[in-house]
Amino acid sequence: MIGMQLPDVDVWSERVVVALGQNPGLFTGPGTNTYLIGTGAERILLDTAQGVPEYLPVLERALLEADCRIQEIVLTHGHVDHIGGVASVLERYGPLRVSKLPAPEFDAACPVEPTAIADGARLHTEGATLRAIHTPGHARDHLCFVLEEERAIFSGDNVLGVGTTVIPADGGDLAAYLHSLERLLAESPAAIYPAHGPRIADGQAKLREYIEHRIQREREILAALERGQTRIADIVETIYADYPVALHIPAHDSVCSHLLKLEREARVRRDGDDPLVARWTLA
Ligand SMILES: [Zn+2]
Repeated sequence: MIGMQLPDVDVWSERVVVALGQNPGLFTGPGTNTYLIGTGAERILLDTAQGVPEYLPVLERALLEADCRIQEIVLTHGHVDHIGGVASVLERYGPLRVSKLPAPEFDAACPVEPTAIADGARLHTEGATLRAIHTPGHARDHLCFVLEEERAIFSGDNVLGVGTTVIPADGGDLAAYLHSLERLLAESPAAIYPAHGPRIADGQAKLREYIEHRIQREREILAALERGQTRIADIVETIYADYPVALHIPAHDSVCSHLLKLEREARVRRDGDDPLVARWTLA
């Protein structure tokens, strides 16, 4: 994800304008995409990025170019690069309603009590209807949103325009994540608008690629265990040999999420409490 550049403000469809969060990095790629959704004088702002001061002038430019105000804020989930900008956006444009699926461990970063929304919730603005789909796995409070008028999906961190989603050892759940990908595929989406990276033109192909990627990883991890590798660090060094070393640490979490899934399926055994440093063997 490092090094990719996207414009600060861009129009991705007649009802989707993107304003880049100005927070590029190893995990955020070019930065968080924040979206102005709708066609009217008031539009939904989906996600607020991290809260760096450089973001507000970019958001201001997007609002001017789209000739609109913010109707309300909606969040895909409570990770800091999505919720972190709420305070400064409210300070500049508030008060505004902020809606998300509640998660106390993240919502403290929100200066107002969020309005609770859940699977199936519908949000309306002129020219656009968003339908929430609960998609845990990357984060338990994660919502994706179907843009009904385009059969497109705002995928948050579940599907990215570059790279693959991190399933954190703390709070992530690979089995839930795979189920979430299947649910998104069942929507037969056209485009996907991700929280990081460019618009994905063929959403269904990308979802199949993501599912296949995880199945392939699982095969590689089982093969490593078969060869007698028992530690996550060793497994990562083998199967991520072609990746930059900077990505090996997040890869520990990814391999761990696979092993925890396999453990629940009674296909592997763990010796040790902390899954990240335990010895793992085939069951
Ligand atoms: Zn996230």
